[in-house]
Amino acid sequence: MKGRARESHRPLIFFAVLLALLSSFEALTVELDEERSSEISRFQQYLQINTSQPNPNYQEAADFILSLAKTLNLESEKVDFVSGKPVVLLKWPGKNPTLPSILLNSHTDVVTTEDHKWIHPPFLAHINSEGNIFARGSQDMKCVGMQYLEAIRRLKKAGFEPTRTVYLSFVPDEEIGGHGGAEPFSQSDTFKKMNVGIVLDEGLASPDENYRAFYGERSPWWLAIKAFGSPGHGARLYDNTAMENLLKSLESIRRFRAAQFDTVKSGAKEEGEVISVNMVFLKAGTPSPSGFVMNVQPSQAEAGFDIRVPPNALHDLLEQKIMEEWAPSSRNMTFEFKQKNFGRDVFGKPAVTVADNSNPWWTLLEEAVKKAGGKLRKPEIFPASTDARYFREQGLPAIGFSPMANTPILLHDHNEFLNQEEYLKGITVYESIIEAYASFVDSTAIDASKDEL
Ligand SMILES: [Zn+2]
Repeated sequence: MKGRARESHRPLIFFAVLLALLSSFEALTVELDEERSSEISRFQQYLQINTSQPNPNYQEAADFILSLAKTLNLESEKVDFVSGKPVVLLKWPGKNPTLPSILLNSHTDVVTTEDHKWIHPPFLAHINSEGNIFARGSQDMKCVGMQYLEAIRRLKKAGFEPTRTVYLSFVPDEEIGGHGGAEPFSQSDTFKKMNVGIVLDEGLASPDENYRAFYGERSPWWLAIKAFGSPGHGARLYDNTAMENLLKSLESIRRFRAAQFDTVKSGAKEEGEVISVNMVFLKAGTPSPSGFVMNVQPSQAEAGFDIRVPPNALHDLLEQKIMEEWAPSSRNMTFEFKQKNFGRDVFGKPAVTVADNSNPWWTLLEEAVKKAGGKLRKPEIFPASTDARYFREQGLPAIGFSPMANTPILLHDHNEFLNQEEYLKGITVYESIIEAYASFVDSTAIDASKDEL
C-alpha cells in the first residue's frame, strides 16, 4: 500500500519540480531581458548627448560617464589637460597593482552631421524595426566606450576580480587631431603614473562576419604643389605654361594613385598597406566678376593632396618621386608639406604593435575573441589616423579594435547605425578580452617583481 501511495505522488512531484524550474527559467529570462534593455538604453543615452565637432557638449558627456562610474564603484577623475576639454579617467584597481595596467581608450567627440540627409535625427538614437540604432557615434566610437563599461558591469556582477589594474580613458577632440585630448594625456605625468602595459582603442566595422584589428596606422603627408609659367593669351599655344606644368604632375600622380588602388581592388593588398593619394584642392585661374577670365593663361596654379603612407613604406623613394616627378624644379614647380609624419615612436622605431604570437597581448586578444564566439581577420594597418598613434609613439603596444561584424562601414557617413544585437555581442567580446587581459600574469613581469624582493 505504502509503495503504491508513493508512486501515485510521483507525477505531482514531477510537475512541482517542472513548475519551479519553469518559473526560475522565466525569472532568469525576464532578468536577462531587463539587463539587455538597460544596456541598450544606456547606450542610447550616451548617443543622445550631442558631442559633435566643432561645439561638443563635453561636460554633459563627462557627467554621464562619471554617473555610470559611480554605479559601478569605479574610481574616477576628470582632468583638463587643455581647458574646457575634459579627459575622464576611471580605475578598476587590480589585486597586483605592480603589474603594468590595461588602458581602454575611447573618444567622446563625434564628427558633424548634415541632419536633413538622415532618415532619423542623428542624436535621437532611434531604433528601427530591424533593431538598427541610428546615431552619430553609434560606430565611431561611443559604442566602444559604453561596451567597455557594460563588460565591466557584467564582470563585476559575476564576481570577477582583476589581477591587473584596468583603466578607462574617455578623451576629447580625436576628430580634430587629438591635440586637446590623447596627445597631452599620453605625454602627461598622470599617464606615466598609470604604468600602462597595453592600450585598446578604436577599429573599424566589418561588412563580413570577421572582426578587424589594427596594429598600426598610415601617416598623413599633406602636400601642396605649385606650378609657375609664363602668362599669355588664351589663344596661344606655347611651352611652359603653369597649367601645362601642373597638368603633367596631375597625370603622373593619377597614374600612381591608380596603380596603388589596383592592388587593393585585386585583393593583393589591404587598404592600409598601400600609399593613397587624393587630390583635395585645385587652385588656378584669374578671377573675374562673372567667374574666371577666359582668354588669359594664368602664371601660377596649385594643387593639394592628402597622402597616407604605411609605416613600412620607403619614405626616401616617395620623397624622391615628389621631387623628380610630381613637383620638379626643372618644370618650374615647388612643393610644401603642410604636414609630414613618419609614424615613429620615441625610440625612432616604426610606431607599430607586433601582431603575432610573439606578442602575448595579441595572442590573448585572438583567443578571447574566439572564446566569445567571434572571428578575427588577419591584423591590418588602419587606413587613417586615430588616437592609438599617440600611445604607440610612447613605445606602448596599442591595438585598434571595435567589435562590429556584419556591419556596413558608416563612420563619418549619413545614417550611421549599429544593430543592437551586434552591440550586445560586442559587450560579450569585451567581457572575454578584459577578463583575459586583467588576469594575465606574464612571466617576465613575475621575474621583475621577484628581483625587487
Ligand atoms: Zn573614431
